[in-house]
Amino acid sequence: MMAIDFDPLAFRHALHQYPELSNHEAQSARTIAAQLRDFGLTPHTDVGGHGIVVDIAGREPGPTTLLRADFDALPIHEHTQLDYASCHDGIMHACGHDGHAAALLAVAAQLCQTPPKQGTVILAFQPAEETGEGAARLCADPLLVTRHIDNVYAFHNLPGFAQHKIVVRPSTFACASTGVAIRLYGKTSHAAYPERGVSPANAMSDVMRMLTQLPDAYPSTFSLVTLVHAQLGDPAFGVAPGEATVMATLRSDDNATFHAMQTRLVDHVNAIANRAKLTVDLSWHEPFIAAENSTAHNQVVVNAAQSLGLEVHWLKEPMRWSEDVAEFLARWPGALFGIGSGEHHPQLHNPDYDFPDAILATANALFCRVITHHHGR
Ligand SMILES: [Zn+2]
Repeated sequence: MMAIDFDPLAFRHALHQYPELSNHEAQSARTIAAQLRDFGLTPHTDVGGHGIVVDIAGREPGPTTLLRADFDALPIHEHTQLDYASCHDGIMHACGHDGHAAALLAVAAQLCQTPPKQGTVILAFQPAEETGEGAARLCADPLLVTRHIDNVYAFHNLPGFAQHKIVVRPSTFACASTGVAIRLYGKTSHAAYPERGVSPANAMSDVMRMLTQLPDAYPSTFSLVTLVHAQLGDPAFGVAPGEATVMATLRSDDNATFHAMQTRLVDHVNAIANRAKLTVDLSWHEPFIAAENSTAHNQVVVNAAQSLGLEVHWLKEPMRWSEDVAEFLARWPGALFGIGSGEHHPQLHNPDYDFPDAILATANALFCRVITHHHGR
């Protein structure tokens, strides 16, 4: 057994001070990898981008458990008085991924001191969560793609819930979502002779109505379409428009429903455009699948929380936002759970947000309890 002196608070503050955007996390990745090497581990670096993956093997054969933390930041200008506030103008750790990474490093330190008895624990530090790209890339990397993994766990800190409260759900924890941009092209003409052009005006309103009615076809699941932007032609009284753009966000708590919604949307848009003699250009943006928990793994989290005397909150509905840990959960069974950041804590992605250091120890204890459950110590 080796004694390891690791201060997760100081580490988090160091990450917080030098935040990096998705796909640009080179320095953060170097810092994390260097810390893992300090623990005596041998991390794989540049996995699926700036990802870091490290195995911690037990003394006997057994199951494999993967714990995942993200570590990218956001294009937000930090408004805090912290002495470790962002030194990178316009970039900040506004989602607490600095805390997620520090918590997982604390687990690494614990597991180096008291290794698992059986099997292997994989720690995955994932880049590019905010853009929904990192998890899929990490999972597809040769390092992970062929591995047999029995259990996957990850947490997200959750403002709005009491500090240390463990937030769980035995099925979908966070929704699938995607942006869609629909561009309709006709022909511009003089406003005095609109019949000489092809205006997308009516088709545009048909598309908007179709989008808002789309969830009605799936009454047994949670599904939601939010219109986020629309533009018809230009603000010029002399011109009949020849182009229109409609943008929306789609969400669902069920991956099959989500894919059906997308197919239905494409069919309807094509039909509307054909009727109006318009051409159409449709693109998807920032797609996330739903994070679907396994009931059994969710229960492992619940049992671990209760054994630590932590309060458990069962979500009635999934979170409407998305988390790309869903890509891990689509390949291997596991659970995403929340840890309360404080009822009145600033919300995620807000300029006054900072990860609550108090829950670092909670995350560490819970992860270690889950590891002990699957691997013994
Ligand atoms: Zn986040």
